Amino acid sequence: MIKATRVPILQDNYAWLLRCEETGATAIVDPAEVDPVVAAIESAGGRLDMILLTHHHGDHIAGTDAIRERYGARVVGATADAHRLPKLDAQVSEGSEVTLGASTARVMETPGHTRGHITYYFPDGGILLCGDTLFSLGCGRLLEGNAEEMHKSLSRFATLPPETLVCCGHEYTESNARFAVHADPANAALQTYAAEVTKLRAANQPTLPSRLADELACNPFLRANDVATLADLRSRKDNYR
Ligand code: ZN
Ligand code: FE
Repeated sequence: MIKATRVPILQDNYAWLLRCEETGATAIVDPAEVDPVVAAIESAGGRLDMILLTHHHGDHIAGTDAIRERYGARVVGATADAHRLPKLDAQVSEGSEVTLGASTARVMETPGHTRGHITYYFPDGGILLCGDTLFSLGCGRLLEGNAEEMHKSLSRFATLPPETLVCCGHEYTESNARFAVHADPANAALQTYAAEVTKLRAANQPTLPSRLADELACNPFLRANDVATLADLRSRKDNYR
């Protein structure tokens, strides 16, 4: 079984430390800052087998080469983005499997935020490493992809087990909550959840990982039934305050 631990880095990013409880095998997802990531690896036993990258943006990959060098870990990333990611030891695409100790992740191609964005899903542990595709109460900006691609990516997440833990790339939940309540004012579950988020952030507590069940009930982007609705929400959010 895989356990995921948040590693706060940069302004509001999270890297995720993954540890196979049976074997001690360890991976880090999107290590964009060296010192806090090294500290997290050391406090988990000082072993690093793999570095998993979701997409090519600097706030997800910046520490990769330094951390690879320090631990000799294998770097995994999307074939489609191999030309703009750090040097990859394994190139993966839709349906690829990535094994960490006794558990195996399935790779999903989830374009929308960027063209080559991928997501790693560990059914064993229910861990979804979705980078900047799905955020708690939001989704990534459509920097390269379009609303159709994002809608398809989010629709695939929506079919995963509701207990799945959403381990995304940013602590954007509080500002996402403000827009979500504005966009879906009649959603009582969202009101309750947003109030909880406000309380957590006021106490300087993280809101992630979130549970997919809560996202399905509260996240307007995940709840958008069609591409046009998602496109409209996304452009309104881009211009919100
Ligand atoms: Zn990004
Ligand atoms: Fe990012």
